[in-house]
Amino acid sequence: MADLDGARWLVLDLDRPPPGGDPLLADARAIAAAEPRVLDAGWACYLAAPLRAAGGRRAGDAPLDLDQWRRRPGVRRAWIQDDDTILAGLPWRDGKAGFEAGGWRTGRDDLLLIAGPCAVESREQLDEVAAGVAAAGARWLRGGAWKARTSPYDFQGLGARALELLRDAADRHGLAVVTEAIGSDELRAVAELADVVQLGSRNAQNFPLLRKLGAVGKPVLLKRGFGCTLRELEYAAEYVLAHGNPRVLVCERGIRSFESATRFTFDINAVPLLKQRVHLPVIADPAHGTGQAALVEAVARAAIAAGADGLMLEVHPDPARALSDGRQAVPLRDFARVVESLRPVAAAVGRRL
Ligand code: PEP
Ligand code: MN
Repeated sequence: MADLDGARWLVLDLDRPPPGGDPLLADARAIAAAEPRVLDAGWACYLAAPLRAAGGRRAGDAPLDLDQWRRRPGVRRAWIQDDDTILAGLPWRDGKAGFEAGGWRTGRDDLLLIAGPCAVESREQLDEVAAGVAAAGARWLRGGAWKARTSPYDFQGLGARALELLRDAADRHGLAVVTEAIGSDELRAVAELADVVQLGSRNAQNFPLLRKLGAVGKPVLLKRGFGCTLRELEYAAEYVLAHGNPRVLVCERGIRSFESATRFTFDINAVPLLKQRVHLPVIADPAHGTGQAALVEAVARAAIAAGADGLMLEVHPDPARALSDGRQAVPLRDFARVVESLRPVAAAVGRRL
């Protein structure tokens, strides 16, 4: 297909999936057969079969009879948009139910609280954290099994063993597991044992991995690349959606700026902007976004006030001894108090925690 930058899109929301084939491209022919005149006039089409979406790009100035498309069998809605984040964008959501991820349902008042250590270090550490965060209201247990560390000499994670520990600890305390897949090999293992697959900031534009996440069969928590624009994050989400996975959450985790007083700069703008542009739940990670435990509580409150649907916090029983990201970990003994301090803010914006 020619590069059609700036082209507008015809989006068809279908009642039933079109015949199989490549989810992105195969059934362009079906539309072409049904509407040769339109295509002849310069529209190229695609269907995203598993998601029952269809889109077309207009190459030239071809006129388009939208009503004609709406009358076609199987077409529930048809519209034109300039923007090619078709499946992530707000119009696509219209009339559709939210989704379930790790026991949490999107689109409701209750906020999703995700907590756990940066990295799984031992059974004892994880069990203690899981018990504490579950008691304080967390729903998902986080913890890195494989860590994408900047230095090759830093702790790289316990790997597959950590996945088993996460599964055990989460099951014992009624939590769901979210953990990062740092590459394709790890993705297979994570998809098997975790409830939600996390894609890390450093992989935010790993397009082969994004495509694989489309077929993973588990919800995906997509972290913003710290050098990525919000538009790029939207496209990362669109990749996963377009490749067949409708369950995507996006996470603001701080960007790199000129500021050196904090590890990253939590981009508070991202929260309302994403809410205005995509229909996906927006999660805030003030741990990586600040790099300092003393800032986490305030930034978490700001994120809730700004409209975040959930929070991801790092928690450790003894941050001074943590094998990674100890400086940004809320000490476990403080966690319940931190969560309590968030509740009035949640209530003030009509949310429950
Ligand atoms: C993490 O959540 O453990 C993590 C590594 O975060 P990020 O990918 O945002 O740096
Ligand atoms: Mn971390």
